Amino acid sequence: MIIFKRSDDCAAYLARIRKNNHTLGFVPTMGALHKGHLALVNSSTKENDLTICSIFVNPTQFNNPDDLKKYPIAIEQDINLLEKAGCDILFLPAKHEIYPKSKKISVPQVTLHYLATEMEAAKRPGHFDGVMQVVHRLLQIIQPDKLYMGQKDYQQQLIISKLLKAYHPDIILCTIPTVREQSGLAMSSRNKRLSTTQRKRSNSIYRALQYISKGLPSIEIDKLLKEGKDIMESEGLKVEYLEIADAETLSLLTRISNGDRIVICTAAYVDDIRLIDNILWP
Ligand code: AMP
Repeated sequence: MIIFKRSDDCAAYLARIRKNNHTLGFVPTMGALHKGHLALVNSSTKENDLTICSIFVNPTQFNNPDDLKKYPIAIEQDINLLEKAGCDILFLPAKHEIYPKSKKISVPQVTLHYLATEMEAAKRPGHFDGVMQVVHRLLQIIQPDKLYMGQKDYQQQLIISKLLKAYHPDIILCTIPTVREQSGLAMSSRNKRLSTTQRKRSNSIYRALQYISKGLPSIEIDKLLKEGKDIMESEGLKVEYLEIADAETLSLLTRISNGDRIVICTAAYVDDIRLIDNILWP
């Protein structure tokens, strides 16, 4: 695996690859890699001639400075995992490579409707501006054929699909299903911060989502959401939101009509650790 730390070097290398008509898959991450990230890498290595992964903990998407400070870092281990997974290139930039002082890196302007107002957007003001800013910048440097993202960050991948339509229409977005622990807990870099008991309590997140999914469409949404919340709260979790929304637009639903494609989304705190998850229905 080749590692690039400088944007110019990485872009120049990739330009040579493109001349040879090799297809390129790109997996952007913030590191502290787990099997969820590796599922994205595996899909990319199957579907492209070459795979590039980036590790960059993007400061502009952290609305909470404490979350940024505590974000886990495990570069040596990440390099080993990527090498074993058959990743060809790792882009490992310092902050000034992504946000050089000499160049204004703007936030792309995309019409997002409910995607910009509901759930993560409401609870983490500015977060998606930071995500769009960094992904747009990375795509300009890397110019892949395919971009790999996880269903785990459901709202994020919807927003990035809008970004691609507006700014990078030739790049195909591939959304990969959420990889879970045996217990059902969605894998996340933040899980590294969970103690054994916190981890057990966190399993109530997926239990609540499944409970709601099984109750649809016959049981009323209000009742299901209340009971789902109870499942998490009985383990001492603080539920920030639990919603049933249209899977395309994220407009919140109060009743279900035939043929609806739905996503059930939640964010909950296990003490000071914030976890998110979602499942699609049907
Ligand atoms: P992150 O490093 O948390 O920014 O995640 C990088 C990419 O990996 C994002 O597209 C995430 O949605 C995806 N990802 C994170 N966790 C999982 C998971 N458990 N299953 C599938 N994809 C995931």
